[in-house]
Amino acid sequence: MNTEINHSETNQLVCREQGGLIRKKNGEKPVQTLKDDTCKQLIREALHSLLYSYSPYSGFKVGAALLTKDLKIYTGCNIENAAYSPTNCAERTAFFKAVSEGKKEFQAIAIVGGKDGKISGYCPPCGVCRQVMMEFCNPKSFLVILAESEEDYWIYTLEDLIPMGFGPGNL
Ligand SMILES: [Zn+2]
Repeated sequence: MNTEINHSETNQLVCREQGGLIRKKNGEKPVQTLKDDTCKQLIREALHSLLYSYSPYSGFKVGAALLTKDLKIYTGCNIENAAYSPTNCAERTAFFKAVSEGKKEFQAIAIVGGKDGKISGYCPPCGVCRQVMMEFCNPKSFLVILAESEEDYWIYTLEDLIPMGFGPGNL
């Protein structure tokens, strides 16, 4: 399922004292910014998606909400498997849902997670998911929101999370 986002203003820098700070190295300004309301909506959708997590083996539930450039949101949860390796992360679930519906341009993803669904810290994406993000996203502008709640979150660029990542431009 995807939902349309209500988005009247763009390019407003999000900067919160308690998290929600866009980090850039070398004093560069971020290429892309998100409205605070947009971040909150993405976090809300990620928290809702976490409720659908299928994680009977680890008990670690993760939810994600991916924002496309045309302002649609695709959600995902982690889906485990008795054979373990077919397990899919929440972030990749959201990406694959979006790409399978023709979306290939993305702005941001919010990620929440915790043991038994209780959020007790930030839940950074695994290396495999970071690599999938590299396939579709500009690492300098795509934003990754790690949230504990709608009020408490950090925003990173993909480049912050996967420096010198290998992507389509390397081929
Ligand atoms: Zn992952």
